[in-house]
Formats: sequence, C-alpha cells, structure tokens
Amino acid sequence: MTTTLFCCPICAAQLSPVGNSYLCPARHTFDIARQGYVNLLTGRAAQQHGDNKEMIAARRDFLAAGYYDALMRQVSDIACRHATQSCRILDAGCGECSYTDRIARALTEANIPHEILGMDISREALAIGGKKNKSLALAVASLYHIPLESESVDMLFEIFAPHCHEEYRRVLRTGGKLVMVIPAARHLFGLKEALYATPYENEVADTALDGFSLAEQISIRDTITLANETDLWNLFTMTPYFYRTSPQAKEQLRQKAPLTTEIAFEVLVYEKV
Ligand SMILES: [Zn+2]
Repeated sequence: MTTTLFCCPICAAQLSPVGNSYLCPARHTFDIARQGYVNLLTGRAAQQHGDNKEMIAARRDFLAAGYYDALMRQVSDIACRHATQSCRILDAGCGECSYTDRIARALTEANIPHEILGMDISREALAIGGKKNKSLALAVASLYHIPLESESVDMLFEIFAPHCHEEYRRVLRTGGKLVMVIPAARHLFGLKEALYATPYENEVADTALDGFSLAEQISIRDTITLANETDLWNLFTMTPYFYRTSPQAKEQLRQKAPLTTEIAFEVLVYEKV
C-alpha cells in the first residue's frame, strides 16, 4: 500500500503512516494495533464496542462454512465487474472482514489493482479481519463520521450495514458505485418457522435512493440446511431474533438441527449521480 486515505478524525487533515502510527501534520497520533488496524474513534465514541466477541466468532465461522457462498460469489463478481483501474473500495461496517477478504482475493485473482479499506465500530472484529488479510487497510471508525476525504472512494459496500446516506454520498466520487446487500422477504423463513407460531416475511423497503440511480439489481434465492447444532446456533446469533427469543425457546431451537431454511438477498448496485 503506497498511500493512506484515512483522515485525522480531529482536524480532518490527511494521515501518514510513520512507524507503527498514523500521524497528521498537527501531530495527532493514532497507533496501529498489532493486528494491523488503526483506532480512529475519539472522545466518547472511543468507548463504544459494537459487536461482542462471541457474535463476531459466530459470524466468522458461519460464513467460513460456506452457507452464504452464493452471496459471497455475487458480491465479489460485482466488485470485479465494476472495478476501475486502481480502484479504492470501502467496506462500510466490514465486521470481521469475511466479505472484504473475499472481494480482495477476487480482485487480486482478476489482476485488478485495488486498495481496500474496511471500517467498523468493533475493535474485536477488526482484530480478526486484520489477521485474516494483511492487505486490508482497517480503521475503527464511525460510519456517521467517515475519516476519508470527499469523493475519494470508487466503490462502497454496505453489506447488512447501517445506511449512512449523507456520508456514503460524500465519500463516493460521482459515478462511483454503492453496493448494498439487504435481506429479501423470505430470508431465513425456515428459521423463523422454527421460532415462531406465525412468522412474518421481512418488509423490503423501496429501492429508490436520493442522489443515486439504481444500475443493477440481483436477487439471490437459495435453500440451505444447517447441518448441526453449532452452525444453526452461529446463524441464530447473527440475527435480530436472537434478542427477541426467550431462553427456553433458544434451547428448543438447538434441538432442531439439521434445519432447512430459505435464504434470500437483494443486491443493489447504485451509481452516484
Ligand atoms: Zn489532526
């Protein structure tokens, strides 16, 4: 990596790597952790934690088991298809970098020069991500105050991440792509049937986005069978249902492996206009 795109979260000037730190001209200093990420949260925000270790490990193991490979493949294909030469990619809310790593590998295999930045609020997640792929530039940062210059990103991935509209629009260059992955109506319906007497389909919001035009929409529909209790539990902890389920119902779910469920995603590729 030749340059860094990160900006100082205090004075917004460009940061430069100096030894094991990032430094701005006003000498605000941010140490690079042993696992390769830099913590750019300041003040009260620095106390935030994001996902806990157990959730992060569950997601890493679940995705590594290949259950979402149809989505992983589609996301890396899109990266290769829309990548410009030497493109700069931001994975916003990258977590433990399972997708980030897949995108980076796909671009490398396709011989497309690139720089990939990952941002998340969770230090624990980025510690895992940094170990997974040392070529990623990772920062603990708020997606509501992205430490990047305006118009400095060619492609931004928002994979089950918060939609921080103003900031995403600011950091993307005109013509740059926003790739959004959201759950479709029947996503995890089989899991919901195992949990609830009358499961509802997910609401899918209108796809129109101010300041963007929809360039491509890909629907992914698949059926997966969670082979064992561990895989079923790992998936369950990744979902919002985990927090809405009684301890008793949680225990009952454990007994239901192997469990078959639909998975359904919408992948939306927007162009900044
Ligand atoms: Zn500074």
